[in-house]
Amino acid sequence: MDFITFQDRFSDEKKCEDYLIQLRWPDGFTCPRCGSDEFHDMRHRAVFQCKKCKKQVYWKVGTLFENTKLPLRKWFWAIFLMAESKHGISRKELERKLDVHYTTATRMANRIQKVMGVKESQQWLEALIELDEADFHSKGSGTDTSSQGDREPVFMAAEVRERTRKVWEYISRQTYMNCASMEVIEQGSAVALREFVQDNVSEGTTIETDGGRCYVGIPVGDYSHEQTVLRKPEKASEVLPWVHVVISNAKRFLNGTFHSVSFERLQDYLNEFCYRLNRRSKSDQFERLIKAALDPDIARVARNAVS
Ligand SMILES: [Zn+2]
Repeated sequence: MDFITFQDRFSDEKKCEDYLIQLRWPDGFTCPRCGSDEFHDMRHRAVFQCKKCKKQVYWKVGTLFENTKLPLRKWFWAIFLMAESKHGISRKELERKLDVHYTTATRMANRIQKVMGVKESQQWLEALIELDEADFHSKGSGTDTSSQGDREPVFMAAEVRERTRKVWEYISRQTYMNCASMEVIEQGSAVALREFVQDNVSEGTTIETDGGRCYVGIPVGDYSHEQTVLRKPEKASEVLPWVHVVISNAKRFLNGTFHSVSFERLQDYLNEFCYRLNRRSKSDQFERLIKAALDPDIARVARNAVS
């Protein structure tokens, strides 16, 4: 959705409410107790009351917008900006654009980021995987005061697909990166690697890695493992090109948009990066994210996000 369409479509609170209600009850509201479709619309209290049995349904309950005093318009704006922007948006920029306090902007962004994170955790990689480990810098936590902060190891996996195209009488084959997953780990051990693979990669997949020792953690019966021992570390990007593209783009996202991220929040930011990357070719980014925010299981996790 483009900027002008968004502005026109959600220009006041009632339009936002109507949209949210339509997404929750696409066939019209029916009473969950007696099934009647006749109700009083007590909009000022965000309540539907069944005319027959008098049951009251608070239509924000169970969604990301439960127990928030902020207008839906501001929430919709934040979701639109985070869903549609190519490189994400900083909390400071959100504060300015929404005209809210910085802590409010942070709380909103953290919650929306959690929605993205839950959706990301439901993603499975398959086909051919390039897998590598990279160090990310986080803002020093606790007593750490060095300007560099801490170095956090992260496992990265990129799903690689092949595209064929006929050029005259020849078939041209090109690979492309379809989607990616990332996980912050304590250290690059075989045990951590095994967990990462089992949580993110479908069985039967071929996994390409360099000669790192932790890769013995890939369960051999469940996955096909192709290992290339590198004589020169600088050749890594030639052997595993797509996962290195993902690594450098993720670092640019973190350093460019946010400058520095704390260790506690690093995983959430990487999830946000993967969420956007993995859905880059899909339309209706805003509606997808709003629908996820209405899912009671996802919304519960997001509402508990630390501000
Ligand atoms: Zn009823």
